[in-house]
Amino acid sequence: MKKESFVDIKRFLFFGAHPDDAEELFGGTAVKLARKGHIVKFVSMCNGNCGHFSPEYAGIEGGKKLAARRKKEAERSAEIGGISEYEILDHSDCTLQADLAVREETVRIIRRFKPHVVISHRDCDYHADHRAAGRAVMDAAYLLKVPLYCPDTPIPEINPVFAYSYDCFTDPVPFRADAVVEVDSVMETKLAMMDCHESQFLEWLPWDRIDKDFSIDRNSPEARRSYIKNEWLASNREAAQKAEELLKKTYGEEKGAQIRYAESFQFSQYGENVSLEEFRALFSVGE
Ligand SMILES: [Zn+2]
Repeated sequence: MKKESFVDIKRFLFFGAHPDDAEELFGGTAVKLARKGHIVKFVSMCNGNCGHFSPEYAGIEGGKKLAARRKKEAERSAEIGGISEYEILDHSDCTLQADLAVREETVRIIRRFKPHVVISHRDCDYHADHRAAGRAVMDAAYLLKVPLYCPDTPIPEINPVFAYSYDCFTDPVPFRADAVVEVDSVMETKLAMMDCHESQFLEWLPWDRIDKDFSIDRNSPEARRSYIKNEWLASNREAAQKAEELLKKTYGEEKGAQIRYAESFQFSQYGENVSLEEFRALFSVGE
């Protein structure tokens, strides 16, 4: 009995470009997986040192200060979500490239963690760092099985399934939802995790996208979280709308029609080749 449940424990590894990408695109699913006893690790390939507008964070020392702040934000988020590990690599924001060094680094992280599932961005995303992260991860998908490549880091027995997280980009092809996970039921936790990244969701992103004079009652957790939900969960709302039929198939006609926020995942052919049913089963974490 004990052995069986051990075998059922799966390991999920999400590579985002920045600290906060994992929470937005995979955070709700990660919380549900962790609550079922699965092991979840987030990796941010960049250290977050350019994600702000304040002169306080300009220059090399300022960048280090911002990166340190964001590391703390990520650690608090991981604690709230039950995420086993939140690793932040030391690449500067806006400079990530899927070069040979990053390829090796990515292969070694995957081999050491021994995941069943690896998830990252598609390489048609808007941000150069997202594209580079996605490219590095997909470049690693086959190479991680090559014994003479990075021979000091053993190849795990399990060859992982690779997947892409949701994005809204349609060129060259729109994202395809092969699996969808409702996140309404874990919304409070997901928002609490995103709220940890206040340098982003309450400072940088409002300044960049909405209003340079943005202000909010920082002392009210309700105000903070309802703002984050309204402004920064559009991708989860879109993911639910676009995968409406799959939500009904996954959660039943009635319940599926009521779901408002979801995270969806597209199967990548580069990793372990599983059927669509098997792929969906990996993300089947109930309500
Ligand atoms: Zn990002």
